[in-house]
Amino acid sequence: MNLILLGPPGAGKGTQAKRLVDKRGLVQLSTGDMLRAEVIQGTTLGREAKRVMDAGQLVSDQILIDMIADRIDDPSCRNGVVLDGFPRTEAQAEALSQMLKKHGKKIDVVIELVVDEKALIERITGRFSCKICGTGYHDLFQPPKLAGRCDVCGSEEFVRRADDNEATVKARLLAYHAQTAPILPYYRARGLLKQVDGMAPPDQVALQIDSILTGVN
Ligand code: AMP
Repeated sequence: MNLILLGPPGAGKGTQAKRLVDKRGLVQLSTGDMLRAEVIQGTTLGREAKRVMDAGQLVSDQILIDMIADRIDDPSCRNGVVLDGFPRTEAQAEALSQMLKKHGKKIDVVIELVVDEKALIERITGRFSCKICGTGYHDLFQPPKLAGRCDVCGSEEFVRRADDNEATVKARLLAYHAQTAPILPYYRARGLLKQVDGMAPPDQVALQIDSILTGVN
């Protein structure tokens, strides 16, 4: 099964994608994670992308399309993928459907995480993760059980995303409305779009997604 998680920054796409990997053996393709890996490696692409990401804007379509095309055909994706952060524009949505078609595949369902945007700034600016194992936390909603120590691996090193500050989040929301929200009708018209309440606690969001996917299978 190939599915897309859509929603504004902070809607919970990454959290739910990771659960789908654990529960259904899907491969998570997160373009944000791929770009951040390029930034950490200091590649030319990473240096260029960092400037755009720090401004809360979208990296060019062709870069992202090539990135996904490279990964989606990998044999590891045979059981299906959960796309998190891609597509983000109409051009990306169209390119995705072409690249899947070429290999006899398709998108089975698109799940929109519907959220109250007033809550997003607080959600995003408080989040951080363990530098070693990647477990996600939040200053207010999900602090580590023992302050300063990762619940899962015991590490004392944490990281915050450079673009998780208020000014950049506002720009990212503008980009979402201008460039990404217009792809919702594209998928609705194809009968693929389902919505879940992204304001519910993560376990309940996962249950809503699960019942949608059970209907798709
Ligand atoms: P994310 O981790 O999905 O919030 O993505 C972080 C940043 O990476 C975004 O604000 C964009 O600058 C860039 N990015 C990630 N995915 C895409 C995409 N599909 N198209 C363009 N830019 C992207």
